[in-house]
Amino acid sequence: MDYPSVILKPKEEGRLEGGHLWAFSNEVAQAPANTVPGALADLFKSGKSFLGRGFYHPHSLIAFRILTDQKDQEIDQAFFEKRFKNGLEWRESVYPDCRAYRWVFGESDELPGLIVDRYGDYLAVQALSAGMERLKEVILSALQKISQAKGILWRADASLRELEGLPIEPSKVVIGEIPPRIKITTENGLFSVDLFGGQKTGFYFDQRDNRQALAAYCKGMRVLDAFCYSGGFGIAAARAGAREVVFVDSSHAALELTQENAERNGMTGKFTCVEGDALALLAAEPPGGAFDVISIDPPAYARSKKHLPIALKAYEKLNALAMRGLKRGGILASSSCSHHVDRELFMQMLRKSARKAQRSFRVIELRSQAKDHPVLLAMPETEYLKCAILQVI
Ligand code: SAH
Repeated sequence: MDYPSVILKPKEEGRLEGGHLWAFSNEVAQAPANTVPGALADLFKSGKSFLGRGFYHPHSLIAFRILTDQKDQEIDQAFFEKRFKNGLEWRESVYPDCRAYRWVFGESDELPGLIVDRYGDYLAVQALSAGMERLKEVILSALQKISQAKGILWRADASLRELEGLPIEPSKVVIGEIPPRIKITTENGLFSVDLFGGQKTGFYFDQRDNRQALAAYCKGMRVLDAFCYSGGFGIAAARAGAREVVFVDSSHAALELTQENAERNGMTGKFTCVEGDALALLAAEPPGGAFDVISIDPPAYARSKKHLPIALKAYEKLNALAMRGLKRGGILASSSCSHHVDRELFMQMLRKSARKAQRSFRVIELRSQAKDHPVLLAMPETEYLKCAILQVI
């Protein structure tokens, strides 16, 4: 099949030849007139040699997203089945016996703008690029063929869709049925997941490896899981022998999930749920006080570059409060999922916070997102999560 051609300006191919999958609108010299957003097209460098086949969007800042660098590759159901199988193979190798993970993490799985989360027999799928939305039917058939899912939910409520001119709509069950609560088993514990009203698609898989890492320091400890959502950090800590866990979140629905999850994981009598502002709870603690281990995992404070200075101040305030709450030997796991706060800014922020809190720390581990959210070396854009495990000295 012949696809229309998109041609880059001279000298704009370097990043793409290095494995990056996007061409930006200001890098494009020639593109077909009147193409629909997300149409399949071929990308060429200015000397006309082939760079890749993928989606062209005439109105998005990301003008081209490469799906394959193989000239004769058709973008059909067989193509998606192959990509899905590759994605599955990796997840099954790193999370064996566990049928819950992010199965497809967009660009990092060579499927730009597609997210698939697997919750056992149920899938939640999101198209964040116009091209993926246009191929919805093929994608669903391929997923269904491989997974035999009992239910697939199509989520169309992510604000990123607006950048591609896609409508924001309520989630829809597109295949089978999905119960109001799904039970999953992970290495972090057993969790109840709400695919309809939950945050993300229902569970923060991206923190799974960081929860395991922190749990290793929690035996016999009193742990604060601040910004707990469904309780991931605290539950992993309890399973690793924590003496007691205090969960705090400002969302009532999140704490209901945490309560249910903590009980299912045998924590009855060993945990407390506090509904409210995590900063207020930390501020009310005596310095060097009640917790041996603190995890802080706030929502993304920097939604855009413009918000960065204010966001960094907010991270600093929160981190200083948490640091002040620890005594010698105490452990802090500090996370930030703001894309715009890069590693360097994150470390700078931690240094400023420590100065403010008048505490000295050593860096035990500098971590990123879990292995089911791999980072593409050629695309720094695929990394967003930072998690530093620090110890007070
Ligand atoms: N740690 C969680 C994910 C956290 S997501 C996990 O491992 O699954 C961020 C959470 O912070 C959300 O649940 C949100 O409800 C909560 N939140 C936002 N602002 C808050 C605040 N000021 N105080 C406490 N919780 C807050």
